Amino acid sequence: MAVHFHEEDLPAGVLAPGAIAVDTETMGLVTPRDRLCLVQISDGQGDEHLVRFAPGSRFDAPNLKAVLADPARLKLYHFARFDLAAIEHYLGVTAAPVFCTKIASKLTRTYTDRHGLKNLVNELLGEDISKQQQSSDWGAPVLSEAQRDYAASDVRFLHRLVAIFEARLAREGRTAVAQACFDFLPTRARLDLAGWADQDIFTHD
Ligand code: MN
Repeated sequence: MAVHFHEEDLPAGVLAPGAIAVDTETMGLVTPRDRLCLVQISDGQGDEHLVRFAPGSRFDAPNLKAVLADPARLKLYHFARFDLAAIEHYLGVTAAPVFCTKIASKLTRTYTDRHGLKNLVNELLGEDISKQQQSSDWGAPVLSEAQRDYAASDVRFLHRLVAIFEARLAREGRTAVAQACFDFLPTRARLDLAGWADQDIFTHD
């Protein structure tokens, strides 16, 4: 198990075939304002890859974009809506098809309102992840060891969580509705980018 750090693109051929876990770190929550700093990827085999983008980056990352846009690779996220918008805005690709563990959690763990990644990893896998570095300076010239570890841990557990949620969704008869939500997520992200971030267009008012 190792964390691999890369500048400006993923090397070719470093990922096993199949689903990949994806996360992003940015300068903040306002996507067009707050630049994309880091994309984290895991193929579920034990290693994590961190791709760092410098200030003023042209986001010329053909290997990363090809992997993210590959329709044959399911992309696993926790809160895909945010990552899809950041990837679409900065890298110009739609990183689908999607499985989102936050949506799967909301559709199955109806006994709680605690749907953070830390909560899921703790309850379902019995592991502990620190969220201490979540709000840190991802644009810093050098990322600290703590930042790299945190960034890697955000994709480390997603394959195992997805396996559990697939079983839970099937058990509760909600696989189809979950899939429909996942399929809609790239559109939801585009609505965020286009100015409908805070408005629910499905409500009457
Ligand atoms: Mn993260």
